[in-house]
Amino acid sequence: MAIKRPEGTKDLLGAEAQFWARFRSTAFDLFARYGYTPIDVPMFEKTELFVRGIGEATDVVSKEMFTVVSGGNLAKLVAGEHVRSDSRFSLRPEGTAGVVRAVAQNGMLQEGGAPVKVSYAGPMFRAERPQNGRQRQFNQVGIECLGADDPSIDAEGIIMLMRFFESIGIPADKMTLLLNTLGDESCRPAYRDALKGFIVDNAADLCEDCQRRAETNPLRALDCKEEGCQRILADAPRIEDYLCDDCKAHYAQVKAYLDAAGVTYVEDSSLVRGLDYYTRTVFEVRVSVGMDNNQNAIGGGGRYDKLMAEIGGSDTPGFGFALGYERCKIALEAIGAEFPEPPAPALYIACVSSDQRALAFSLAQQCRDAGVACEFDHQSRSLKAQFKQADKLGCAHVAILGPDEVAAGVAKVRDMATHEERKVALEELPQALEK
Ligand code: AMP
Repeated sequence: MAIKRPEGTKDLLGAEAQFWARFRSTAFDLFARYGYTPIDVPMFEKTELFVRGIGEATDVVSKEMFTVVSGGNLAKLVAGEHVRSDSRFSLRPEGTAGVVRAVAQNGMLQEGGAPVKVSYAGPMFRAERPQNGRQRQFNQVGIECLGADDPSIDAEGIIMLMRFFESIGIPADKMTLLLNTLGDESCRPAYRDALKGFIVDNAADLCEDCQRRAETNPLRALDCKEEGCQRILADAPRIEDYLCDDCKAHYAQVKAYLDAAGVTYVEDSSLVRGLDYYTRTVFEVRVSVGMDNNQNAIGGGGRYDKLMAEIGGSDTPGFGFALGYERCKIALEAIGAEFPEPPAPALYIACVSSDQRALAFSLAQQCRDAGVACEFDHQSRSLKAQFKQADKLGCAHVAILGPDEVAAGVAKVRDMATHEERKVALEELPQALEK
């Protein structure tokens, strides 16, 4: 049987590939207005980067990473021999850890300098159970800002994300922005302990995952999807009662900026997000169309002031978000958005016989050099078949080259919609079509 693509991956074809390119460029253009410029980092990193950066106890790291070893090491692994940890790599499950590593490694931060603001787009890999809106390879677009801890960074990032969703056609009334703060290293430990105590006290009524989370990561219990757990955890201690003054002030300022910009949000103290590196602001945008509740987050992020130090860089505050291309596409389809096919070539150059092929080749090149998209026959088709192909490609004009035309230095140009024909001097062909 023919080999098929792996489950949970997708081939982007035609209109979809075109939309993904437009999606990325719309994002980069918008983000550039806020000072974010593109960065491109490897799709795999040392496994250790994700273990230390994202957190060993997170689902992403403990269950969902695709971890690889290079050829020689694979043989060792199969033979049961030890493979050094710096020879283990993982396909990136998210973009932040790699970008933060790159900013540190390349010395992009300058003391007293402006924050580093970067944007990225590309595939991420998670070994999740594939379903609508959940793939094993999916595309994210994201930003990271390193070197500034001001709440204005958080607020402008959130505003920029909402503006982006609207600019690609997701209406504001189909989205909900959820907002929370997770405190920082001075106030979160007390909250963590209180939550852990609550989970232990209620362990008998909570699922096994939540019981385990009491030890590894109590905050994650808050976003358990089990209804029974949700009911009990609704009475769990709340972060807002534990915030230190600095975290309170930071959160209040983020909200004040969002209010001033007219961006509406819903505060949700159970929003913790799946990655361990967040401090203070966290947020997520969910849609009400196209996907069920477990997959309806189209983007999210937050502040991660300890991440760079955690992976061995200097103590540098950070903020970022990532949004999921595929889920945005599903939401757009659900609201009936259209995805245009790639534009058709403006011109097809058809030859009456193979005698005109060399001329067609050079004319096509002249048209393309002049900025006119152009195609001609590469398969020795008959004239009739060339017209058929031009029609299939959607070309607006066909330039016909026969012995008489070539002798007269002209092409017969047919308008495919009206069937009108006119003679155009060969050297004027590109300009004639531009008009
Ligand atoms: P996260 O890094 O988990 O916060 O993900 C950021 C965004 O990426 C989410 O809001 C989703 O839109 C998207 N996303 C995450 N995981 C997947 C997946 N397995 N398949 C498709 N999109 C995903």
